[in-house]
Amino acid sequence: MLPTEADLQLLFARLNYQHFNGQAPDCRIRYNARFSNSAGRITYGPFPLLIELSTKHFERYPEALEETLLHEMVHAWCFAQYRDTGHGARFKKKLRECGLSSIYHDLGNVRPLTESSKRYILRCEHCAFEVLRKKRPGKPASCPRCDKRRFNPRFPLTIYEITGMESIGTSIDGLKAALRAR
Ligand SMILES: [Zn+2]
Ligand SMILES: [Zn+2]
Repeated sequence: MLPTEADLQLLFARLNYQHFNGQAPDCRIRYNARFSNSAGRITYGPFPLLIELSTKHFERYPEALEETLLHEMVHAWCFAQYRDTGHGARFKKKLRECGLSSIYHDLGNVRPLTESSKRYILRCEHCAFEVLRKKRPGKPASCPRCDKRRFNPRFPLTIYEITGMESIGTSIDGLKAALRAR
Protein backbone atom coordinates (compact mmCIF):
# COMPACT_ATOMS: atom_id res chain seq x y z
CA MET A 1 0.00 0.00 0.00
CA LEU A 2 1.27 3.44 -0.89
CA PRO A 3 1.64 6.07 1.82
CA THR A 4 -1.37 8.34 2.08
CA GLU A 5 -1.08 11.93 0.94
CA ALA A 6 -1.01 12.93 4.61
CA ASP A 7 1.97 10.57 5.13
CA LEU A 8 3.67 12.17 2.14
CA GLN A 9 3.32 15.57 3.78
CA LEU A 10 5.02 14.19 6.89
CA LEU A 11 7.80 12.70 4.78
CA PHE A 12 8.13 16.07 3.03
CA ALA A 13 8.47 17.81 6.38
CA ARG A 14 11.15 15.35 7.53
CA LEU A 15 13.15 15.67 4.30
CA ASN A 16 12.77 19.43 4.43
CA TYR A 17 14.27 19.46 7.91
CA GLN A 18 17.04 16.95 7.01
CA HIS A 19 18.26 18.41 3.74
CA PHE A 20 16.94 21.93 3.26
CA ASN A 21 17.06 23.49 6.68
CA GLY A 22 13.30 23.86 6.39
CA GLN A 23 13.66 26.10 3.35
CA ALA A 24 11.97 23.99 0.71
CA PRO A 25 8.72 25.85 -0.03
CA ASP A 26 5.35 24.33 0.80
CA CYS A 27 4.17 21.86 -1.79
CA ARG A 28 0.95 20.02 -2.33
CA ILE A 29 1.73 16.36 -2.97
CA ARG A 30 -0.62 14.20 -5.00
CA TYR A 31 -0.61 10.86 -6.73
CA ASN A 32 -1.31 10.84 -10.42
CA ALA A 33 -2.61 7.56 -11.83
CA ARG A 34 -2.02 8.60 -15.41
CA PHE A 35 1.76 8.99 -15.32
CA SER A 36 3.38 6.14 -17.18
CA ASN A 37 6.80 7.34 -18.34
CA SER A 38 7.57 9.60 -15.46
CA ALA A 39 7.93 8.80 -11.77
CA GLY A 40 7.36 12.33 -10.56
CA ARG A 41 6.65 15.84 -11.71
CA ILE A 42 6.64 19.32 -10.23
CA THR A 43 4.42 22.19 -11.35
CA TYR A 44 5.67 25.62 -10.33
CA GLY A 45 2.51 27.64 -10.35
CA PRO A 46 0.09 28.66 -9.00
CA PHE A 47 1.25 28.48 -5.39
CA PRO A 48 1.70 26.32 -3.50
CA LEU A 49 3.84 24.25 -5.83
CA LEU A 50 2.44 20.89 -6.84
CA ILE A 51 4.40 17.63 -6.74
CA GLU A 52 2.78 14.65 -8.43
CA LEU A 53 3.93 11.08 -8.04
CA SER A 54 3.08 8.17 -10.30
CA THR A 55 0.73 5.69 -8.66
CA LYS A 56 1.69 2.95 -11.11
CA HIS A 57 5.40 3.47 -10.68
CA PHE A 58 5.44 3.46 -6.89
CA GLU A 59 3.09 0.53 -6.57
CA ARG A 60 5.87 -1.39 -8.31
CA TYR A 61 8.84 0.38 -6.73
CA PRO A 62 7.70 1.70 -3.35
CA GLU A 63 11.35 1.91 -2.22
CA ALA A 64 12.01 4.62 -4.83
CA LEU A 65 9.37 6.99 -3.53
CA GLU A 66 11.46 8.88 -1.02
CA GLU A 67 14.23 9.47 -3.54
CA THR A 68 11.81 10.77 -6.15
CA LEU A 69 10.10 13.06 -3.65
CA LEU A 70 13.53 14.36 -2.65
CA HIS A 71 14.39 14.99 -6.32
CA GLU A 72 11.21 17.04 -6.74
CA MET A 73 11.97 18.88 -3.50
CA VAL A 74 15.36 19.89 -4.89
CA HIS A 75 13.45 21.43 -7.81
CA ALA A 76 11.15 23.23 -5.38
CA TRP A 77 14.11 24.51 -3.38
CA CYS A 78 15.99 25.70 -6.51
CA PHE A 79 12.84 27.47 -7.61
CA ALA A 80 12.40 29.18 -4.24
CA GLN A 81 16.07 30.18 -3.99
CA TYR A 82 16.92 31.07 -7.57
CA ARG A 83 13.79 30.80 -9.72
CA ASP A 84 15.71 27.99 -11.37
CA THR A 85 13.58 25.18 -12.80
CA GLY A 86 16.16 23.13 -14.68
CA HIS A 87 18.61 20.33 -14.08
CA GLY A 88 21.56 22.70 -14.23
CA ALA A 89 24.56 23.26 -12.01
CA ARG A 90 22.66 24.54 -8.95
CA PHE A 91 20.23 21.65 -9.14
CA LYS A 92 22.98 19.07 -9.44
CA LYS A 93 24.99 20.55 -6.59
CA LYS A 94 22.01 20.46 -4.24
CA LEU A 95 21.04 16.99 -5.44
CA ARG A 96 24.52 15.72 -4.58
CA GLU A 97 24.32 17.35 -1.16
CA CYS A 98 21.12 15.38 -0.63
CA GLY A 99 22.95 12.17 -1.52
CA LEU A 100 21.29 11.62 -4.90
CA SER A 101 23.05 11.25 -8.21
CA SER A 102 20.70 10.78 -11.14
CA ILE A 103 19.05 13.88 -12.52
CA TYR A 104 16.40 11.96 -14.39
CA HIS A 105 12.82 11.67 -13.22
CA ASP A 106 12.28 8.87 -15.66
CA LEU A 107 15.39 6.77 -15.44
CA GLY A 108 16.87 7.35 -12.04
CA ASN A 109 14.52 5.26 -10.01
CA VAL A 110 13.45 2.63 -12.48
CA ARG A 111 15.41 -0.47 -13.41
CA PRO A 112 16.23 1.60 -16.40
CA LEU A 113 16.31 0.59 -20.00
CA THR A 114 13.95 -2.31 -19.75
CA GLU A 115 11.32 -0.10 -18.17
CA SER A 116 11.72 3.06 -20.15
CA SER A 117 11.63 3.48 -23.87
CA LYS A 118 13.69 6.66 -23.71
CA ARG A 119 17.08 6.28 -25.26
CA TYR A 120 18.61 9.65 -26.04
CA ILE A 121 19.77 12.59 -24.02
CA LEU A 122 19.92 15.95 -25.76
CA ARG A 123 22.28 18.26 -24.01
CA CYS A 124 23.23 21.92 -24.41
CA GLU A 125 26.95 22.25 -23.71
CA HIS A 126 26.43 25.95 -23.13
CA CYS A 127 24.00 25.85 -20.19
CA ALA A 128 23.81 22.12 -19.37
CA PHE A 129 20.10 21.93 -20.23
CA GLU A 130 19.20 18.28 -20.78
CA VAL A 131 16.15 16.49 -22.06
CA LEU A 132 15.32 12.84 -22.73
CA ARG A 133 13.96 11.60 -26.03
CA LYS A 134 12.63 8.26 -27.19
CA LYS A 135 13.76 8.81 -30.74
CA ARG A 136 16.89 10.21 -32.20
CA PRO A 137 15.88 13.68 -33.45
CA GLY A 138 15.67 13.80 -37.23
CA LYS A 139 16.73 17.41 -37.62
CA PRO A 140 19.15 19.60 -35.69
CA ALA A 141 17.73 21.06 -32.49
CA SER A 142 18.92 24.00 -30.48
CA CYS A 143 18.66 24.77 -26.80
CA PRO A 144 15.20 26.03 -25.77
CA ARG A 145 16.69 27.69 -22.71
CA CYS A 146 19.56 29.59 -24.39
CA ASP A 147 17.25 30.84 -27.12
CA LYS A 148 13.61 30.59 -26.16
CA ARG A 149 12.22 31.93 -29.41
CA ARG A 150 13.74 30.10 -32.32
CA PHE A 151 16.25 27.62 -33.63
CA ASN A 152 19.69 29.04 -32.97
CA PRO A 153 22.76 27.23 -34.31
CA ARG A 154 24.94 28.90 -31.68
CA PHE A 155 23.36 26.64 -29.06
CA PRO A 156 23.12 23.19 -30.61
CA LEU A 157 21.94 20.22 -28.59
CA THR A 158 24.42 17.37 -28.54
CA ILE A 159 22.84 13.93 -28.80
CA TYR A 160 23.94 11.21 -26.42
CA GLU A 161 22.68 7.70 -26.82
CA ILE A 162 22.04 5.91 -23.53
CA THR A 163 23.75 2.58 -23.79
CA GLY A 164 23.90 1.43 -20.21
CA MET A 165 23.08 2.30 -16.68
CA GLU A 166 25.32 1.59 -13.75
CA SER A 167 24.07 1.21 -10.24
CA ILE A 168 26.25 2.78 -7.58
CA GLY A 169 24.37 1.47 -4.59
CA THR A 170 21.03 1.50 -2.93
CA SER A 171 21.36 3.21 0.40
CA ILE A 172 21.69 6.94 0.72
CA ASP A 173 24.94 6.50 2.64
CA GLY A 174 26.30 4.28 -0.10
CA LEU A 175 25.55 6.98 -2.63
CA LYS A 176 27.25 9.63 -0.55
CA ALA A 177 30.34 7.44 -0.21
CA ALA A 178 30.39 6.75 -3.94
CA LEU A 179 30.14 10.45 -4.73
CA ARG A 180 32.89 11.36 -2.31
CA ALA A 181 35.15 8.73 -3.85
CA ARG A 182 34.94 10.34 -7.31
ZN1 LIG B 1 14.03 16.81 -12.21
ZN1 LIG C 1 21.43 26.02 -23.38
